[in-house]
Amino acid sequence: MWRDHLLLVAAAVALAATPVYAGNVLLEEWKGPYGGVPPFDKVKVADFKPALEAAMASNLEEIDAIAKNPAVPDFENTIAALERAGKPFERVSAIYGIFRSTMSSDDFQKVETEMAPKLAAFKDRIVQNKELFSRIAAVYDAREAGGLTPEQKRLVWLDYTNFVHAGARLEGTSRQRVADINQKLASLFTKFSQNLLGDEKDYVLYLEKESDLAGLPVGVREGAAAAAEARGHKGQWAILNTRSSMEPFLTYADRRDLREKVWRTYYARGNNGDAKDNNATISEILKLRAERANLLGYPTHAHWRLEDTMAKTPERAMELMEAVWKPAVARVHEEVADMQAVADAETARGSAKVTIEPWDYRYYAEKVRKAKYDLDQNAVTPYLQLEKMREAIFWNAGQLFGLQFKPATGVPVVQPDVRVWDVTDAAGKRVGLWYFDPYARPGKQSGAWMNAYRNQSRFDGVVTTIVSNNANFVKGKPGEPVLISWDDALTMFHEFGHALHGLLSSVNYPSLSGTNVARDYVEFPSQLLEHWVPVPEILNRFALHYQTGKPIPKDLVEKIDRASKFNQGFITVEYLAGALVDMKVHLAATADTTIDPQVFERDTLAALGMPKEIVMRHRMTQFAHIFSSDSYSAGYYSYLWSDTLSADAWEAFEEAGGPYDKTVAKRLLDNVFSTGNTIDPAEDYRKFRGRDPGIAALMRKRGFPAPVAQTSGSASPG
Ligand SMILES: [Zn+2]
Repeated sequence: MWRDHLLLVAAAVALAATPVYAGNVLLEEWKGPYGGVPPFDKVKVADFKPALEAAMASNLEEIDAIAKNPAVPDFENTIAALERAGKPFERVSAIYGIFRSTMSSDDFQKVETEMAPKLAAFKDRIVQNKELFSRIAAVYDAREAGGLTPEQKRLVWLDYTNFVHAGARLEGTSRQRVADINQKLASLFTKFSQNLLGDEKDYVLYLEKESDLAGLPVGVREGAAAAAEARGHKGQWAILNTRSSMEPFLTYADRRDLREKVWRTYYARGNNGDAKDNNATISEILKLRAERANLLGYPTHAHWRLEDTMAKTPERAMELMEAVWKPAVARVHEEVADMQAVADAETARGSAKVTIEPWDYRYYAEKVRKAKYDLDQNAVTPYLQLEKMREAIFWNAGQLFGLQFKPATGVPVVQPDVRVWDVTDAAGKRVGLWYFDPYARPGKQSGAWMNAYRNQSRFDGVVTTIVSNNANFVKGKPGEPVLISWDDALTMFHEFGHALHGLLSSVNYPSLSGTNVARDYVEFPSQLLEHWVPVPEILNRFALHYQTGKPIPKDLVEKIDRASKFNQGFITVEYLAGALVDMKVHLAATADTTIDPQVFERDTLAALGMPKEIVMRHRMTQFAHIFSSDSYSAGYYSYLWSDTLSADAWEAFEEAGGPYDKTVAKRLLDNVFSTGNTIDPAEDYRKFRGRDPGIAALMRKRGFPAPVAQTSGSASPG
């Protein structure tokens, strides 16, 4: 299993300044306990624009000072100076990012629309600063002779590579054109995201009769009632146009007509031919990306994006995806046959004839799960209380890494539901703060993700980590526990894996800290953490029935274990179809052809042999991973790449003596969770595992036949 939730990392560009910023709290140093905390209690949306503009201006002045330094370029006056710089910009960007993802009001969206191209232009002014780049290049050229530590050499390499990658070597009109494209793309990304958020907010299905809810479990009904009431429809039930509302409805609702309606509304987000339609925006993004890649010297956007990843080339990423695709599709056909048999048996008992359609998949899969494995997900949910699972992730981090968690006091929050914990290590030393923002609300993007508010570093005084985990659980009635699904529990462990990657970071320089690693490596620690959900040590302590307090029964756990490979065809194909289309569309796009996203999606899936009962997990017009920023573009494959590592890494625990084997946990901490980007990821992994990863563990985990020529010592995940 993997979660595919966006990981938000605070802006990597760092510049500093010391002037006084009277009157704008967003620019001030973070004050208060725990090494200073974000002043959420004082933030006003109107402050963002002036704060960002002042921070950018002072940053550029500082960059200028570094670039024009008359001294011979060296690590300290160039690379370390860049690390030290830009603190006000980092602070305002962190809070700006939190508002973008969790407090996106109409007022805020206006600011965002105005600022997106300006922020893009600002970043280009730094990477296109010739004097600065020539200093970085000079330090880079002399890196072996300068008595630098391995971490310092890595940082020099990273700065140099990032600048070159972003076009620092471009001249004249090409330089200007890349900067123009970046600004245009920033505006298009913002438009894409706001359209999507709009379609998620505006389309709500209100159910008026209790009979419309047939099949839905109590918790889902209560959540729908609360959602309706919050929208002025007291006495009705609201099915929101978000994943967390859609999935349980499609899994449990007996009303096939309503399932189809909910399914169609959800998968039409951004594709309704109205003012919020994203198709034309996508075509433009693809063109501009292709043109930029050509200007930078790459055949396609995919080649440009893959260069600084662990996979290195689109071909290696495709190779892994293709190795998994065929067995996954074969499994889907088996799953559909099982479901069709259930539907046919119902028809024989007098129900209407059903041929499995996409809106039936989750519903009949659930019936097969019950029939084949005697596992009813509704029997599991009463044992999964949100707060107990939060305690479970803390306890788990204590067992593996010695961390301790205490509620933090006197820390302002962005919204009253957010809570904060103080995190200390085995020696009692503070490592950081963890913010938890669990509930859905208007203006918050759907899904679950981690956000780094402040990166760990120690080269210039000790700076501790601040991270948050964010989710979209439906808030229940006051005083009653929120019950979550097995899948939600996996997601909590996943996102907490990202948080731990930040909290356990032990490096000198902030640019190398925590989750600032290659995109196809960053999901490895988080996906690995998911493996601890089903271990008995966790379930016996924390999977407690919300009424009786009794731990989840052993036979239920055994059923969960037996069913763990169930539905892997659907899960893998739903994801992998998106990953393949993402890579193929970025390999196909050129600067002078217009790609129609609907036609491309349809034709590509047909050529791949996509089962007709499944659609891409995120269809083109709602694929925020790849169209709301560059970050996961030609990079959605990363989840599979990282899962290859996590499956292989989990087997290290199994081989050693269990999920809390001290030696393996120590190796994991020393080599993966604490190292950030101070070391090449392939080497980091090798030092943890003693060898390179292979694909066999991944195939075992998903219950697919292992490829013939595979040995466990193969050179790469693919
Ligand atoms: Zn993740």
